[in-house]
Amino acid sequence: MGCIPRLFKSKRKLDLPPPPYSPQACQTREQLRSEKVGHGKQVFFGRVVHSKSLKHLEIFNKAALGVDETGIICFLDSTVKSAAAACKKYSGFENAQCTTLKSLEFLFPGMIDTHMHAPQWPNMAIGMEGNLQEWVEGYTDPIEHSYKDTDKARRVYDDMVQKLLENGSTTVAYNSSPHWEATNVLADMCLKYGQRAIIGKLCIDCNATHGNIEKSPEISLEDEWKAVEHIRKIDPDEKLISPCIQPRNGSFVTPPLMAGLGRMSNGEPGSKNIHIQAHMCETLFDIRKMKTVHPGFENYSEMYDHYGFLHEKTILAHCIHLSDRDIELLVERKAGVAHNGNSNTCLTDGECRVRELLNAGVKVGLGTDCSAGYGVSILESMRAASNVSRHLVIHKDDPSLKLNFEEIVFLATMGGAQVCAMDDKIGNFEQGKLFDALVIDVGQKDNINISGWEEDDLALVKKWVFMGDDRSIRKVFVNGKLVAGKDM
Ligand SMILES: [Zn+2]
Repeated sequence: MGCIPRLFKSKRKLDLPPPPYSPQACQTREQLRSEKVGHGKQVFFGRVVHSKSLKHLEIFNKAALGVDETGIICFLDSTVKSAAAACKKYSGFENAQCTTLKSLEFLFPGMIDTHMHAPQWPNMAIGMEGNLQEWVEGYTDPIEHSYKDTDKARRVYDDMVQKLLENGSTTVAYNSSPHWEATNVLADMCLKYGQRAIIGKLCIDCNATHGNIEKSPEISLEDEWKAVEHIRKIDPDEKLISPCIQPRNGSFVTPPLMAGLGRMSNGEPGSKNIHIQAHMCETLFDIRKMKTVHPGFENYSEMYDHYGFLHEKTILAHCIHLSDRDIELLVERKAGVAHNGNSNTCLTDGECRVRELLNAGVKVGLGTDCSAGYGVSILESMRAASNVSRHLVIHKDDPSLKLNFEEIVFLATMGGAQVCAMDDKIGNFEQGKLFDALVIDVGQKDNINISGWEEDDLALVKKWVFMGDDRSIRKVFVNGKLVAGKDM
């Protein structure tokens, strides 16, 4: 057991009442949900915003968007003049449920959080005093270990999944704790509340503290498979939940466990290729430590590649201190990067060179990395990505490193979909994709100050991204179903 750094020691426990997420409050939200989830054909008419590419943010001042009973987008048409006209034009949509957006509302793709630690939810906003190692030992290990109490997992995850949906995260790639039971609870909650998710049990068999460690590689592998099997049982077609293999990183997973997990992710003992989520090159210390656990590898990516970890369904968090060879391998293997600007700043890890990754052809999405960052929303991650890129401009005296607005919207939506290997299904409003969407209203009584003399539609979107919060997220749809939002 490692020592807790002095700066984290508290003299006494606060005597506080139990958390506010009581069963009664959950029941009320659940009742609302069951009453209001209708699911026939739908037509939306009004302002529509989505990314066509990294550089092209398409905004229609007025367009009609049609969704069928299965949640698939059947048309996005900017030539019709009303929802009624769209219903008339498209066969089968004659009796569709129509929604005409208000003058300050717009449709925005559901946001994608490509890296989030579910068990760390109660630690949001605390623990930023130290560096990564101090934070892991002082905060992360103790709280992750505590999820051996499955009831705690049920209570925390029930609240967290609803909050993240309310904040517009329609898809989340979750890290869990090293407990298959708690991991299964997380999958159950995402299915219950209708959130798209990638979920796996966290695997750790060395170097962790506070008992946050599994007894052997064999047990870790067995338990990981229990979580995979559970997800395949509750959602066999992966309509919402996809299983994931999760070594914490090279410093916390021994070669035998790494080898077993690599085989599992490549189709053994099942048949399908499974998602992977792991950390890579978060700090220079982490890279040095990885080399002591896996001697002989010059580059982090070569270690992961050796175990079969790099493929198109791989999500690598952080990737700050990458070598040229790392970047090359990520491109070759089509592995994606979760950029967590807020977390990297809070823990002073460094600045991910997103422009360089994008130029090289690496897939990049955004993550909250709860609880290392303080932002629950991908809006915060967009702002952080923007700011980190500007700091790189300052440090390297190179204006080309700046991420512009179109690019940060892309990273939060289409980029995230690419990193999750789901860009054929979600990320924007192309015909044939699933309707994961937010109805945003920038006319609410919140921080967004619309004056009436904004030049164009883009200004409204910028106001929301930089000034908005969950108050402006009025409706949240996943697979065409209304699952959250202030107007639910
Ligand atoms: Zn992380």
